[in-house]
Amino acid sequence: MAVNSFGKIQIGIYVEIKRSDGRIHQAMVTSLNEDSESITVEWIENGDTKGKEIDLESIFSLNPDLAPDEEIDPGPEMPPPPTPTSKVNKIVKNRRTVAPPKNETPARDNRVAAVNSARTRPSQPPEPPASAPQNGSVSDISPDQPGKKDFGPSSRRKSNCVKEVEKLQEKREKRRLQQQELREKRALDVDATNPNYEIMCMIKDFRGNLDYRPLTTADPIDEHRICVCVRKRPLNKKETTIKDLDVITIPSKDVVMVHEPKQKVDLTRFLENQTFRFDYAFDETAPNEMVYRFTARPLVETIFERGMATCFAYGQTGSGKTHTMGGDFSGKNQDCSKGIYALAARDVFQMLKKPNYKKLELQVYATFFEIYSGKVFDLLNRKTKLRVLEDGKQQVQVVGLQEREVKCVEDVLKLIEIGNSCRTSGQTSANAHSSRSHAVFQIILRRKGKLHGKFSLIDLAGNERGADTSSADRQTRLEGAEINKSLLALKECIRALGRNKPHTPFRASKLTQVLRDSFIGENSRTCMIATISPGMASCENTLNTLRYANRVKELTVDPSGGDLRPMIHHAPNQLDDLEELWGVGSSPQRDDLKFLCKQNEEEVSPQLFTFQEAVSQMLEMEEQLVEDHRAVFQESITWHEDEKALLMMTEEVDYDVDSYATQLEAMLDQKIYILTELRDKVKSFRAALQEEEQASKQINPKRPRAL
Ligand code: ADP
Ligand code: MG
Repeated sequence: MAVNSFGKIQIGIYVEIKRSDGRIHQAMVTSLNEDSESITVEWIENGDTKGKEIDLESIFSLNPDLAPDEEIDPGPEMPPPPTPTSKVNKIVKNRRTVAPPKNETPARDNRVAAVNSARTRPSQPPEPPASAPQNGSVSDISPDQPGKKDFGPSSRRKSNCVKEVEKLQEKREKRRLQQQELREKRALDVDATNPNYEIMCMIKDFRGNLDYRPLTTADPIDEHRICVCVRKRPLNKKETTIKDLDVITIPSKDVVMVHEPKQKVDLTRFLENQTFRFDYAFDETAPNEMVYRFTARPLVETIFERGMATCFAYGQTGSGKTHTMGGDFSGKNQDCSKGIYALAARDVFQMLKKPNYKKLELQVYATFFEIYSGKVFDLLNRKTKLRVLEDGKQQVQVVGLQEREVKCVEDVLKLIEIGNSCRTSGQTSANAHSSRSHAVFQIILRRKGKLHGKFSLIDLAGNERGADTSSADRQTRLEGAEINKSLLALKECIRALGRNKPHTPFRASKLTQVLRDSFIGENSRTCMIATISPGMASCENTLNTLRYANRVKELTVDPSGGDLRPMIHHAPNQLDDLEELWGVGSSPQRDDLKFLCKQNEEEVSPQLFTFQEAVSQMLEMEEQLVEDHRAVFQESITWHEDEKALLMMTEEVDYDVDSYATQLEAMLDQKIYILTELRDKVKSFRAALQEEEQASKQINPKRPRAL
């Protein structure tokens, strides 16, 4: 490229630049970038030095006097830059969402109306115009109003432009070649052989127009009863190898943008840029400490103030939940001291030393368990299966759960290690299993044995398994169904907490059941960290995660007012006949399941509801069957003793044969009665298994798309 492409631009001079929000102001040229046919400019704004790379074409259109005498004609083959398009606005409009007005906390709907509003950050006053560089070297740099500015070519340029047609064509050709060259050069950091090269360039251009203001440790930490955040992880090696693209941009402390590649009917590709707003957004450079600082850390105090705190990592498998909660896996060993579990424990011990809390003489305990397919396993006790019981006062107890006293962070780290190794041991594909279970780590404060506060930190099961419900294999189906159900239940429980609703549908899943006390009470606080993968291949899952997270905090007013108990009519099925035998027909579990399905009608088809019901029923029956079987087994030990005594009696010389026969008959009657009852239960349980299998086949495989 010829050096004179820069015309009269030189380092150190001031040029007019146009900002993404339309403002035009002056900035100093700090470098001329031959490779990318652009210049870098800097200016001072709100006391900060800002910089931006701008292509020559844009500079010349704003500063025609600086253009070289033979100004390059913008070729018609250039696609327009992917600035916020009316498309984005339209899409969002169709979804009837509005940008929150200035100064309003962005609670009602986290989705931001348009890219523009994301840039101007509605929660803050509009930025003042860029101020002059403060060295006083330029006196008049007040920004021009957009609109006043003449964007057109200067008269001098015009006279250049009316040259002969051949000359124009020649220039166009030259331009084309330059573009080609530019593309090749760009390929040094964006790979031109990538089939998504075009999309990659669009995203790059889009990003070039954004102002970046990522979250910093200097940002204030707000008080939230429900805090919902998003964390993006970096592209990993595998994604880089398959040339996946990073389609997520986090331009500011609370905005997440998804650049979804789409194709028009004529096969031209374009980006659909969707913007979401959360309490905080962490980009790929944010370390665990930073995420912790804004999410779980503010909740530590809650448990000292006799409250309940929960912090969830939610997202598809591989998006960074375990990395966030448990710690960094580098190689095979996990450094759990960098995870939120350990960071929270560290601060709990710090807090204990404060005079106010020291005098309370609190003891710290920890539990670590896993919920898999609706069953609870103790990770601190060789994965013992535990029962969850609810007493008459709705107090939920995990029977036999090991609560270990911890005196320092090291104690906690040891427990986390034990739990983690237990979580993944004995699995051929460890990650496959652990990604299908929820891991719950709890820090419990007790005062003289009495519960004072509890912090539950949860690494949730991967949320991407919606389609598994129609899988051919029961195990996978049940896993999928349980995950779907528990994540729906979790969302509804947090929403109920946010609205102070009297009814919390906690019984709809084991996860919410064991966390029940955290969803009620004035002094309960919760935080959700939605983890997302940056890759284009994960785009759909990422959007689902963001929609879910969005719904968790979207506090819409319930139009029906008070009672939310729904009435769902579903086709009668065999299960209804079983209700009598099992006595579970109108169980609170079932009512809560109905509640969830009603609240999520868009996502839960009637068939899926029937299936979920079948699954729940089946699991309840399974539990009861196993319990009954165990009771029969215990009973049979006494039978054994009794029979032995009876037989001994026959060995006596003059035993009472009448009494012997009567006793034996009574004994057999009892056995037959008990065993027949157990056999009937097994039979009906097997019928329920069939029922589940049939119900699973009725599900439209496309549902549920999103949780
Ligand atoms: P999940 O628990 O959601 O299935 P993991 O936490 O196991 O996902 O993360 C998947 C992979 O990505 C791991 O190798 C992990 O080390 C890596 N990873 C996740 N988040 C980050 C991050 N923020 N920075 C660097 N690597 C990450
Ligand atoms: Mg994991």
